[in-house]
Amino acid sequence: MNIKNKRGGANRPCSTPLLSRTGSPEDVSAYDFPDRFTDREVYAEFLGPGDAELTFELYGPKYDRRHRFYAVARQKIRVVKVTFKAIPGSEHKGFEPDNTLRSEEPYAWASVDKNSTSSVVRIEIEPSLAADMIELAVVSGTGCADITPKNFSAANTELTITGQGDAGNAIVEARIKNTALVCECLNVMALSKRGPIGVGIYRVWDSRSPATALPTNILSDAEIVAAMNERFAQAQITFEVDGSSGTYDVQYDNLQAPYTSSNGWTAGSDGMVQAEELSSITANAASWTAALKLIILRANGDPVNMHRDPPYSTMLIEGFQSSTPFNHVVMFTEPYVRPLAQVIPHEFGHTLGLAYYNDDGGFHDLGAWPEGSEKLMRPGVPSGSVQNPTFPEFGRWLRHEDWRQSNDEARFYTNTP
Ligand SMILES: [Zn+2]
Repeated sequence: MNIKNKRGGANRPCSTPLLSRTGSPEDVSAYDFPDRFTDREVYAEFLGPGDAELTFELYGPKYDRRHRFYAVARQKIRVVKVTFKAIPGSEHKGFEPDNTLRSEEPYAWASVDKNSTSSVVRIEIEPSLAADMIELAVVSGTGCADITPKNFSAANTELTITGQGDAGNAIVEARIKNTALVCECLNVMALSKRGPIGVGIYRVWDSRSPATALPTNILSDAEIVAAMNERFAQAQITFEVDGSSGTYDVQYDNLQAPYTSSNGWTAGSDGMVQAEELSSITANAASWTAALKLIILRANGDPVNMHRDPPYSTMLIEGFQSSTPFNHVVMFTEPYVRPLAQVIPHEFGHTLGLAYYNDDGGFHDLGAWPEGSEKLMRPGVPSGSVQNPTFPEFGRWLRHEDWRQSNDEARFYTNTP
């Protein structure tokens, strides 16, 4: 198959001059083509998978009616495509593909514990026959991270990133072997491990008001912490159930006659929590000593002060505080038992300062997310809830700026420097 592809101007993916006589960047004619030949054309003829021939046709100015300079240079090239991708199933485990980036960096990111390893990224080389032409080199971030293997024989190879003890960023170049020609790069973020951070899970009810009793089908402490660990491993943060966790009988549901506030809500012994009652719960937390606190209550009865927008008024989100430390999240179980595994890590994401790109003004990330995952800091109703039953995936993925942000913020809940 011969496809002749006409392009205006040289299209050079690498920095070595294509008009080198031997392929070496030192072996280029000193002849100044651009000044003498202004009217250039470049043709690429694709000869087969990975191979092409470039033809440069150069036209100089006429110096009289009949004579015009004309020159042709041809060079056969091999087109090699190198891509860094998530190992399938690792889309939310510390990898950001280049197509979701929101900063200037054009290259994918991978994270690693500065004192451990990660296996989340693979290199893909097209055509596979060119795999042995590619080598990896870590060109910055000495002491932060290394990557293996560095040489390849297959189209897809899983890579292992090894932290070398220093936090910071490293850059890995995929080069044409034994040259300085860079085909693609990978950014590596080596982070200090944070944690395990103790999460106290306090299941609160009021024995004087039986309607406040929690339903029996909510997540176990272990399931809650597992959901947290799954989301924040990409930021090198881990959690554990704090020993102060448990079920607490707190007298919060007022037994006085119900009254109507200026905001229109009714407080009283109604089995639900109003804003003023919430303060009596948090004031009771003296014995709740965990670094991070999760308070689970039956139902929100305050649609003004503790809600998002209708029809979500029974699900309180009180996760975010911009100043640190702010260490508690309050959850209502009704009617959102199932998505608690989604909402709890999302709210603790706010407690950990997310999202870095808070483009809705509410510290949520409105940008794209990678195929195969959904982002944790997506705003709105969680997947699998009554209002949003069809969204297939719980949010898990964080962009690389959020790895950094939450890892930094996690210092406040640990004793790590
Ligand atoms: Zn949120």
